[in-house]
Amino acid sequence: MREKKVIGIIGAGIGGVALARSLEQRGIPYHLFEQAPAFGEVGAGIQMTPNAVKVLNALGLANEIDSVGFLPESMDGRSWDTGKELFSTPIKKEFKRIFGAEYYHLHRADLHEILTKDIPEEKITFNIKCQDVKNSGDKAIAYFDNGESFEADLIVGADGIRSVVREALWGIDDPKFTGDMCWRALVPVDEYPLSFVKPAASFWFGPKAHVVTYYVKGGKAVNIVAIKETDGWVKESWTEPSSTSELLEAYKGWNSDLIDLFQKTDNLQVFKWGLFDRDPMDQWSKGNITLLGDSAHPMLPYLSQGAAMAIEDAFVLAEAIEYYEGETNSALQAYEEERRPRTRRVQLESRERGRTYHLESSEEQQKRDQEIQERQKEDPNAVGIKSEWVYEYDATSCRERFDKSKVSV
Ligand SMILES: Cc1cc2nc3c(=O)[nH]c(=O)nc-3n(C[C@H](O)[C@H](O)[C@H](O)COP(=O)(O)OP(=O)(O)OC[C@H]3O[C@@H](n4cnc5c(N)ncnc54)[C@H](O)[C@@H]3O)c2cc1C
Repeated sequence: MREKKVIGIIGAGIGGVALARSLEQRGIPYHLFEQAPAFGEVGAGIQMTPNAVKVLNALGLANEIDSVGFLPESMDGRSWDTGKELFSTPIKKEFKRIFGAEYYHLHRADLHEILTKDIPEEKITFNIKCQDVKNSGDKAIAYFDNGESFEADLIVGADGIRSVVREALWGIDDPKFTGDMCWRALVPVDEYPLSFVKPAASFWFGPKAHVVTYYVKGGKAVNIVAIKETDGWVKESWTEPSSTSELLEAYKGWNSDLIDLFQKTDNLQVFKWGLFDRDPMDQWSKGNITLLGDSAHPMLPYLSQGAAMAIEDAFVLAEAIEYYEGETNSALQAYEEERRPRTRRVQLESRERGRTYHLESSEEQQKRDQEIQERQKEDPNAVGIKSEWVYEYDATSCRERFDKSKVSV
């Protein structure tokens, strides 16, 4: 039997820990390196769509996710000012049957905690920042800010949108400001449900802006993500402080249900930041080093897929490493062949949703709304944001698509 390869993972965000968990499940040795002093996630919600939940289930996390996840009744589209329902797609009753897994709303910290639960302490180093990576023969080496280095058979850059690993492989290429900014806030709920917030994934579409709201923590809080096109420059950070008044000012004239919700935000717990993305890449890997998650394909959050794509990447990479044991190049080729076309489409369609969600003229808005209403007349389960193809994909069946001829015997 061949000796197992050792994998070095840079970054313990959702992508890095999903990879660690996938490798742990297969008994493949790895070590995680994270610049932060401890595991942590910001206090915000996250949507886990059926394609991501299929992977979480395959990682043995179905019960844990179900115990903290919120199952929305539906996905609703609404008009920004009148609140008129533009579409409603049933989720809770239908998604599992149609797409093979549930659609959950979670608190990010809960998701991160569930993914990290079985990662042994000795397999992670905190407070260490990767500064460079290099290929060296049939190995790769990561270099850190404390002067240490780590040699591995494969190094994976799961280090986010400003990835050091990506830069070391492919040169400096700053992510682009998309012209859109975002506010986030969590509103605690005393009595569930609030009369002005439906237990749904609610999308409010307005000119040059949209807002998404949903319950997390079993209905104990509502997550707000409010997006607006802007000429002003906003930092790319989850923790840039804003305020209730700034949020209210930005959404003046919007429907009273939303304004009532915004008024309930804690002034010190409203954050804002600029949204950045990049063009899809033609290649991710070089030698024994590759990329995963936002380091490879940062995207606008309009299909709620950044973390979902990182989770899918992680599972497919672990499957490929196991399947092509001893053949890192074949594993990386299979990984990219499976993942690049998928993430490319999600990146580009997420950008396109920015356009259709933010239409300005009432003629264009009517055309958009009529199209989905006609689709829903034919099929009441048609998804209002045209994302069926996102949810249908199943990363857990990727082995069926790997090229067996490249497995060495
Ligand atoms: C407003 C908004 C809403 C979103 N909503 C959703 C949603 O509903 N569903 C969804 O699927 N996605 C959503 N996303 C996208 C999602 O948040 C990201 O795509 C996802 O978190 C990316 O995970 P990652 O592990 O690739 O990167 P990150 O989460 O950025 O993790 C990178 C990790 O690497 C560490 N690191 C960085 N550099 C180094 C270094 N040099 N050395 C060591 N460690 C390092 C960082 O500290 C961090 O822990 C949303 C994004 C935004 C902005």
